[in-house]
Amino acid sequence: MTRELTELTRTDLQSALEALEVEAYRAGQIARWVYKRGVNDFNQMSNLSKELRATLRQSFTIATPAIVRTDASVDGTRKFHLRLSDGREIESVFIPDTPAMTFCVSTQVGCAMACAFCLTGKMGLVRNLTAGEIVGQVRLMAQELDLLDKSFNIVLMGMGEPLHNYDQTMKALQILADPEGLAISPRRITLSTVGASTKIERLATEPLMPNLAISLHATTDEMRDKLVPINRKYKLNELLDVCRRFPLKRRNRITFEYVLLKDVNDTPDDARRLVRLLHGIRAKVNLIPLNEAPAIDFRRPSDARVNQFAQILADHHVTVSVRKSRGRDIRAACGQLIVEGQKPSPAQRAAALL
Ligand code: SF4
Repeated sequence: MTRELTELTRTDLQSALEALEVEAYRAGQIARWVYKRGVNDFNQMSNLSKELRATLRQSFTIATPAIVRTDASVDGTRKFHLRLSDGREIESVFIPDTPAMTFCVSTQVGCAMACAFCLTGKMGLVRNLTAGEIVGQVRLMAQELDLLDKSFNIVLMGMGEPLHNYDQTMKALQILADPEGLAISPRRITLSTVGASTKIERLATEPLMPNLAISLHATTDEMRDKLVPINRKYKLNELLDVCRRFPLKRRNRITFEYVLLKDVNDTPDDARRLVRLLHGIRAKVNLIPLNEAPAIDFRRPSDARVNQFAQILADHHVTVSVRKSRGRDIRAACGQLIVEGQKPSPAQRAAALL
């Protein structure tokens, strides 16, 4: 039986090779071919003997998502529409000049969180991605864009809630960090979550801890219950207490993302409440004026309203930025990723409940 090589950490690969009576150090050579040089055919691994290549071919496969289509925005953003080995489809986005280069990666097909302003949430959860599929998006985009030997950032902000697919997301971080592979430090990775407090507490104990971003989007439980339904289970106070205790490295902060919806959560009172809620947290706020879409019932506030909100935060010494929407013309901006025609089955819906 063959094993999928991209699902293995290097330690797993070493054990698998030893079971085949192949020297463990070959794992590093193979990782360099796959992750540093983008090779997914054992025949091309020219520093391995013919016999070893034959053994590897019989024992492993190397799956890479297939590109269905790429869309290029006028602002340089590129959206990759990808097909996985079971035919399911996801989207990933490359955003240049942010100021570094950034890959926005998916962790699930669809999403169970049903945030009211997000198209992905309308899909429901179809299935979790495996660690190999999460890393595969990075590997593929880096290769396509000729960036395998460059440094870039990764944001886990594509389709899905990463902490709802906890184990595979953590394994993906391990594979991404392998110095013989892509060598991406968790410091260059930001994990964005709607905030299941228990999972954030668990994240705080991980050896490979990414930067944390919380999708907050409201300043009262009443409003957050409507906009981010997981708030019905994990209330604002509980979430923010966990953030207060979250171990941050020196000079690091938690990012709070706040989608501004016209006349819903964009009032000066909301801004002042947000200041109070973040008291005692090393925080920065990222305001995201809504990216409107026909299936979304909310509207984008005026620039004046956005600036007023930002000014109130700044006046109270809260670090704030307004996210410039990238790739809106190709529907690649925040909350706009959706793959039509993929509905979860009733069993998948049931499994999606946290
Ligand atoms: S905003 Fe994120 S967590 Fe909420 S539904 Fe969309 S993808 Fe899921």
